[in-house]
Amino acid sequence: MKVLVVNSGSSSIKYQLFRSQDWVALASGSVARIGEAEGEIRGEWLDWKGERQTSRAPAPIPTHQEGIDHIIAVLRESGVLGDVSELTAIGHRVVHGGEHFKRPTLVDDAVAKAIEEVIPLAPLHNPANLAGIEVTRRLFPRVPSVAVFDTAFHQTMPRTAYRYAIPEFLYTEHRIRRYGFHGTSHHYVAKRAAVLLGKPLAACNLVTLHLGNGASATAIREGRSVDTSMGLTPLEGLVMGTRCGDIDPAIHFYLSKNLGLDTAALEDLLNRQSGLLGICGVNDMREIDRLAEAGDDRAELAIGISAHRIKKYIGAYCAELGRVDAIVFTGGIGENAAEIRCRACEGLENLGIRMDDSANFAIEERGERCISTPESAVRVLVIPTNEELEIAQQALAAASEAAGESH
Ligand code: AMP
Repeated sequence: MKVLVVNSGSSSIKYQLFRSQDWVALASGSVARIGEAEGEIRGEWLDWKGERQTSRAPAPIPTHQEGIDHIIAVLRESGVLGDVSELTAIGHRVVHGGEHFKRPTLVDDAVAKAIEEVIPLAPLHNPANLAGIEVTRRLFPRVPSVAVFDTAFHQTMPRTAYRYAIPEFLYTEHRIRRYGFHGTSHHYVAKRAAVLLGKPLAACNLVTLHLGNGASATAIREGRSVDTSMGLTPLEGLVMGTRCGDIDPAIHFYLSKNLGLDTAALEDLLNRQSGLLGICGVNDMREIDRLAEAGDDRAELAIGISAHRIKKYIGAYCAELGRVDAIVFTGGIGENAAEIRCRACEGLENLGIRMDDSANFAIEERGERCISTPESAVRVLVIPTNEELEIAQQALAAASEAAGESH
């Protein structure tokens, strides 16, 4: 049995194929530049000897349907998928599920319509996600297409955490509230943390930090999300590659009144020109690390502001949770940037957090690991995320449940 994971964006589709007996990733790849004159098809797979093979070819990819056709062709030609009937489920990443979707959901016409209704909350992402779903439903009507939502894990937040202090009708009539994102990643690393801690997830209190180009923190009580740093959109919270995170909302009025910026310009400024890029001119943390080491003051400031904000969220979520079993770092920065981890956890001994600097800075270390000292009451863990695997497992579970089976 195999499960295909599809992450359908506006101009590209990424995919991964898993064998569900042992969750080995048999193949992965992407089709890029959909709708442009010349697209690109990339694939990577395990051949019959278990050796990794790759391919890369230019091709026009006018629509998402042609994109999925190319993906199935690569999977079949490489031998990892004999026939589409081998697919038990297709898991689709969907960014926004609004308040409607609290768990992975098998897509039928009513579900597709409900995803469409959430488009105003995620105008850049949901239409592209839905396009991918519609194609697989049309091409493979017998294979369950399952929507796995980035927001679903956070639907357990209490209203004290998800409501904003703005007039009530904005929530009741316009659904303006905090939703949170990266839920698949926070859920995945929480489950792995529970395994490393040797406890059931339902007994774990965690602060999970997904730090990549996008970044968010989540407070998890007894395995369930009770607060998260992203809000109505993925703009709120931590400092990100090009997004500002938390700012005084009055900055919007100030910029509009004094610089004459309209809403489109404000959106662009805060989403695409701010964050690390805005502070130091670069949004790649590896480059920022290099610049800071060479004495660049703006790069140093970018690292400092990021770590300061992460530390504030760790402190806030420790206060919210009371007892914390572990702080978990994940995402490209969380998994690799030891300096950020060090600064974010520095001076938190009174919260029971004691970093082991040699474990934290051990550059040869990769994979799941503990970077706190044995005396640390709160464990500090690094856990590489695997959102595709989480989507595959959730999709199979939802498809099996819908089919009345138990796996
Ligand atoms: P992601 O969105 O999870 O792929 O994370 C992307 C971010 O992780 C970028 O800012 C990268 O510069 C950063 N990153 C990846 N590898 C490293 C590394 N070895 N050291 C520091 N930052 C890294």
